[in-house]
Amino acid sequence: MTITTDKYRIDSHKLMFHPQRVSDWLDGGNIFPIYAEISPSGACNHRCTFCALDYLEYRPVFLDAALLKSRLTEMGRLGVKSVMFCGEGEPLLHREIDDMVNHAKEAGIDAALTTNGVLLNGELFGKMGESLSWLKVSINAGTPETYAAIHRTKEADFDRVIENMIQAAKIARENDFSCTLGAQLILLPENAHEVETLAGIVRDAGLSYLVIKPYSQHLKSLTTTYEHIDYEPYLSLADRLNRFNDDDFRVIFRQNTILKLGQQSRGYDRCLALPFWSHIDSHGNVWGCSAYLGDERFCYGNIGEQGFAEIWHGSLRRASLEYVSKCLDVAECRVNCRMDEVNRYLWELVHPSGHVNFI
Ligand code: SF4
Repeated sequence: MTITTDKYRIDSHKLMFHPQRVSDWLDGGNIFPIYAEISPSGACNHRCTFCALDYLEYRPVFLDAALLKSRLTEMGRLGVKSVMFCGEGEPLLHREIDDMVNHAKEAGIDAALTTNGVLLNGELFGKMGESLSWLKVSINAGTPETYAAIHRTKEADFDRVIENMIQAAKIARENDFSCTLGAQLILLPENAHEVETLAGIVRDAGLSYLVIKPYSQHLKSLTTTYEHIDYEPYLSLADRLNRFNDDDFRVIFRQNTILKLGQQSRGYDRCLALPFWSHIDSHGNVWGCSAYLGDERFCYGNIGEQGFAEIWHGSLRRASLEYVSKCLDVAECRVNCRMDEVNRYLWELVHPSGHVNFI
């Protein structure tokens, strides 16, 4: 029997499940996005060595919760289907994070959250777990020493995060939350020897999956320490991690993403994905792409000044899309960016081979 290790298609994309939105876009419609990322907090309590957004400087800026909630109501009405609270900083540093998550769900939008898990205590998870489709903890080592070195924090945080994961899994089980709990490790030379240890810890904590993801250099990041990691020696990890897989737990080794690091071409010449997603930062700015936060060419407006629909149909976004369709060379973009698989899919849709009718 084949075990599907990646049932949530984390190493792929999910746009094929939204044929109507894609069809409207193909017909030239000015569609609203399916998915948006939201940064509730610019501040972070860790300083991970691989942090792609170090250039944003972890400023203590917090999204206005009342304002976001009113925009979420509007976004749900417009057809935004999911939001992920993540971001420039640690989302749980925002004091009203549970309120924003619960409001997203009430607005008809699926909500998810990524966190380093340090502040994920049982009380907080209990207040928002029912509204979350999934929650993913970023934990990048299997021992307190390595964890402290990579997250650049104290060793005690490692045990605290594991205890929080155990508590969250227990609360989810006892309350019958449908929230899928997972964890993620960015594979680095410093933690590769601890991946199997972490897989055992995460499984025993009661989570549903652990993602192993390669690093990719963000072009604006201050750090370039990991720019040239050779992942070839780590590919054998995929087989070794198979032993952790069972009906309740999966290790999702992002082999497809790793193998793409070595490809010469991205498989598409232009970015077609921007109509399908968006990013709202801690200042309330709406961006076309999370790989270009801070780059004014991708800023569509601010939710404090305009409604979401007004921003989405506004002149800044029109000019940005014009720039992206005519001028942006995707070779300049972050390799394996969030929309890479979506772009490959869309590019093939609009540039089909001559044999597609032979289904
Ligand atoms: S980074 Fe990716 S999603 Fe962003 S503009 Fe480039 S190709 Fe598009």
